[in-house]
Amino acid sequence: EKLVYAFNEGTKEMKELLGGKGANLAEMSSLGLPVPNGFTISTTACKHYQVHKELSENLLLEIKNKLEELEKVSGKRFGDEYNPLLVSVRSGAVFSMPGMMDTILNLGLNDFTVKALSQSTNNPRFAYDSYRRFIQMFADVVMNIPRHKFEDVLETRKKQKGYTFDTDLTTEDLQYIVDQFKYIYKTEKGSDFPANPQDQLIMAVEAVFSSWDNPRAKIYRDLHNISHTLGTAVNIQEMVFGNTGNTSGTGVAFTRNPSTGEPALFGEFLLNAQGEDVVAGIRTPEPINRLQEIMPLVYEEFVKIANLLENHYGDMQDIEFTVENGQLFILQTRNGKRTAQAALQVAIDLVHEKVIAKEEAIKRISTQQIDQLLHPTFSKKGLEQAILIATGLPASPGAASGKIYFHAADVLQAKERGENCLLVRAETSPEDIEGMIFSEGILTSRGGMTSHAAVVARGMGKCCIAGCSSLYIDEEKRELIYGKTVLREGDFLSLDGSTGNVFLGEISLEQTTTGSYFTELMNWADEFSVLQVRANADTKSDVQTALNFGVAGIGLCRTEHMFFEETRISAVRQMILSSDEQERQEPLNTLLEMQKEDFIQLFQLMKGKPVTIRLLDPPLHEFLPKKEEEIKKLAQELHISLAEIKNRISYLEEVNPMLGHRGCRLGITFPDIYEMQTRAITESAVSVYQQGIAVMPEIMVPFIGSKEEYTFIKERITKIIDDILIENNISIPYKIGTMMEIPRACLTADEIAEEAEFFSFGTNDLTQMTYGFSRDDTDKFLFDYKAKNVLKNDPFQTLDQSGVGELIKIASYKGRKVNSAIKLGVCGEAGGDPDSIRFFHELGLSYISCSPFRVPAAKLAAAQVAL
Ligand code: ADP
Ligand code: MG
Ligand code: MG
Repeated sequence: EKLVYAFNEGTKEMKELLGGKGANLAEMSSLGLPVPNGFTISTTACKHYQVHKELSENLLLEIKNKLEELEKVSGKRFGDEYNPLLVSVRSGAVFSMPGMMDTILNLGLNDFTVKALSQSTNNPRFAYDSYRRFIQMFADVVMNIPRHKFEDVLETRKKQKGYTFDTDLTTEDLQYIVDQFKYIYKTEKGSDFPANPQDQLIMAVEAVFSSWDNPRAKIYRDLHNISHTLGTAVNIQEMVFGNTGNTSGTGVAFTRNPSTGEPALFGEFLLNAQGEDVVAGIRTPEPINRLQEIMPLVYEEFVKIANLLENHYGDMQDIEFTVENGQLFILQTRNGKRTAQAALQVAIDLVHEKVIAKEEAIKRISTQQIDQLLHPTFSKKGLEQAILIATGLPASPGAASGKIYFHAADVLQAKERGENCLLVRAETSPEDIEGMIFSEGILTSRGGMTSHAAVVARGMGKCCIAGCSSLYIDEEKRELIYGKTVLREGDFLSLDGSTGNVFLGEISLEQTTTGSYFTELMNWADEFSVLQVRANADTKSDVQTALNFGVAGIGLCRTEHMFFEETRISAVRQMILSSDEQERQEPLNTLLEMQKEDFIQLFQLMKGKPVTIRLLDPPLHEFLPKKEEEIKKLAQELHISLAEIKNRISYLEEVNPMLGHRGCRLGITFPDIYEMQTRAITESAVSVYQQGIAVMPEIMVPFIGSKEEYTFIKERITKIIDDILIENNISIPYKIGTMMEIPRACLTADEIAEEAEFFSFGTNDLTQMTYGFSRDDTDKFLFDYKAKNVLKNDPFQTLDQSGVGELIKIASYKGRKVNSAIKLGVCGEAGGDPDSIRFFHELGLSYISCSPFRVPAAKLAAAQVAL
């Protein structure tokens, strides 16, 4: 089996085998782009290494052959004392894992080849700069010698000489540093730095393979649901040098702005620098447009290549490049990580630019990203009073307030105490990943838009401000200093990742509004989805929100929510506590007028879209007064004694109210309540209809368990509706149906469907009764269930397909058998859950209904499952 592939033997489709980086290097080579030559050791070899813990004979032989080919084309030789070949050893997994795996540059240098390099280029400073980098990277990545030991030497030397930047170091400084580095290596490892390039290469390859299993790589994979068995490829590539002087440099650029999606080249570069310098944030990089001034020809070529790559891949690219003495080389391209906002704009712009189809755009945006777009921002009021202390780079949007902590471990502890935290650091590194996960936002004083903090935060959808250089952050002392003020661990800050503004203290949040790109995506989703999306809404503002998101109707209006308002509750209580129909008449009349107001508004807003109104459902005791003075007041209103009212209240008490006197059971014991509600619905519909606005009421009877219950209620309410319509001499389309939330109803759906015009599956109660889990008590055991792997998901969030889903299947099948026109929908929480939506789509239901803010994600999911 072939284990090593030259760049010209691969394509971008071979990611699984060559890793993302290798496959794209191969693709770019065959596109004829200026990519340094090299070859890729496949992920298969890595899997083999995971088992045997050594490189096989076959593999070693293939590497040797490919290396010889590389020597031939480059005209250089590995370890040569005149013209040495230097390579980079680069990890590259199937899914890009920024900063997780390690890369070694300038491999092949030793005391002899460094002299050769120095002479052949006539640039000793460059040669020793490369050598010190190589020793440091090799020691760190391959031998696990703490990085700071080397950095300390560098810093001390810079301080001694009064330098600011690494680029100030002279040849002698670098030679001295190299000696020190070798000395550190020897004291740490008890042996000399490995001089033989072949040995260096083998050790480096093994280290990359082992790094697949380092803890931070594992955490990253867990976080992004990447399998631990994929393994990584290793790329061996001829070096090109950005550190030869001021005609060289290195950079990273995105073909569009990864933060906002704006269609303009976005990135940074550093003169006289190599590899990680740009992201490490030691020197502040320059924006990419400056390249146009400094090296116009290089810039022009780069723009051409960037456009070519974006078109070729059909997506925004994240490109790494290096310029060696005015010559451009491309070292990596991949689909760029981006914020939700950028994902939206890029996908839609690419459709307008005819690069991709609408279907593709819909697939590219995730439902999580849609949720992020609806994330709250700081309230206007809060911002007016906020004190701005600094502005950094808006690295990843979102708003976050919390207590500041300077170390990932402190964030974890604070999180356990239930605090909202911000991770504040000079710069982040892969070790901070867990702290980043558990913080609300990230603030760094160093690094650019492509620094570790920025890239990782954007991937997580987490608010981040990077490179806030006016703040001095002392991680050791756990202090943040601005001006003369010192903030300490536990103090509050607020971060606005969209502007880069840092505020003192806490700021309240509010919901964001969405723009035209969002609306366009929602419209496209409608074009492709089969499932319609409705909203569960009862207040005017909920309905308005739902309409802004373009809902197809209201799938659940809970009438009782209209009862809790202060001015109404007393009428409701009187209604409940009346002793007979006669006494009940007066409060019912009051409520009739109130409900009519609600429904008229609802029908007016919905303009002929279906509105499913559920008749009174909850156990009556929920409405009862609890405080003594409320009880007294109620007794007065009903003209009865305190003793009598207490008597009536205690009569309504139930042992198990969720399974007690509620839903249609109320409608059977107190028919006048449902009759009043039906009258309110119908009279409202008539009045709105008479205003020239179409109406489509659907009356839903809750908690049905048998056909007999349903028929009892349906006959009564049908009569009321028809009487009102005849009285007014008009005809309005309406439907009457049931909420399906009791298992028995699902099992006898064929009987119920003889009478019902629609079923709406109420997955919350249906789950409660199917599982026998009390909805209000699952917190006592659900956590353990999940931790102990007894349950994978909370069935109240994600539909339990094999149990509850089976009941829905049975009911749909039986219902359709006797009534092929029956309309089927879902109105529980699961209706808004993207994972459950596929199931509902495949069952051929006609709609799902969820809370208004879940509508956009539900619409997107409905379109995605239909493609
Ligand atoms: P990562 O996956 O962390 O981005 P890379 O393998 O892309 O790691 O290497 C990091 C950087 O090292 C690159 O962006 C590039 O600047 C530099 N680099 C890698 N290989 C070479 C090479 N052959 N010549 C010059 N620079 C290189
Ligand atoms: Mg890279
Ligand atoms: Mg219910």
